[in-house]
Amino acid sequence: IIELKNIRKSFGTIEVIHDISFSVKKGEVVCIIGPSGSGKSTLLRCINGLETYQGGEIRVHGDRVDTASKSIRRIRTRVAMVFQRFNLFPHMTALENVAEGPIYVKKEPREKALEHARELLTRVGLAAKADSYPPQLSGGQQQRVAIARALGMQPDAILFDEPTSALDPELVGEVLAVMRSLAAEGMTMVVVTHEMGFAREVADRVLFLDGGVLVEQGPPEEVLSRPQNPRTQDFLRRVL
Ligand code: ATP
Ligand code: MG
Repeated sequence: IIELKNIRKSFGTIEVIHDISFSVKKGEVVCIIGPSGSGKSTLLRCINGLETYQGGEIRVHGDRVDTASKSIRRIRTRVAMVFQRFNLFPHMTALENVAEGPIYVKKEPREKALEHARELLTRVGLAAKADSYPPQLSGGQQQRVAIARALGMQPDAILFDEPTSALDPELVGEVLAVMRSLAAEGMTMVVVTHEMGFAREVADRVLFLDGGVLVEQGPPEEVLSRPQNPRTQDFLRRVL
């Protein structure tokens, strides 16, 4: 449902994504790994139209991702994004954060949206925190609210940009557990992560990016255990 063909992206005169192509099928979990500055976040942001790109073509369900076109709003509601920092509204309760998109963007009736939001908070294990404000929640809880909020838009796919790297180590597991259960339920996911255990266990495919180049991709047992490219080998030696 997501297709990238020969994507090139520059900031000014510096090209940071060089000719990247890959696709993501419905229900697939694709993990993107790679060193800092390799272009992982930029690539994700191109997929849901938060960044423009200069070459190639990205399609979501056949619709061209073009920040200047009218379809971009529809694409952004179909492809949700979860960030490293939780990006919740601090003055709204957890429940209101989850219901906000459905009410204001999808124009759902308020009562129905709140009821659905409560179900989603239950799904991420936070039914008891519905009326708490983000500053009253731990980082792991805030990130789970952010995931519930992404789910509230009933997206076809969710993009995660290092969802656990801002968390204290003891809070990482609860967020990964929620992501694991989403994957098991068949959610289409693209996950930029440094959690190699998660990638190994959950990913259908792992992509290794280095210097804006898609160096290697394949099933996790190949890319993570028997990398072919010396750059992948070198990166994994440093992180594992
Ligand atoms: P990290 O693991 O540290 O999050 P990353 O793989 O996500 O890194 P990106 O944030 O995508 O890397 O950055 C890729 C390159 O693009 C880097 O060289 C970065 O300096 C550059 N870059 C990113 N955003 C901008 C911007 N808004 N303006 C100019 N250059 C940018
Ligand atoms: Mg990044």
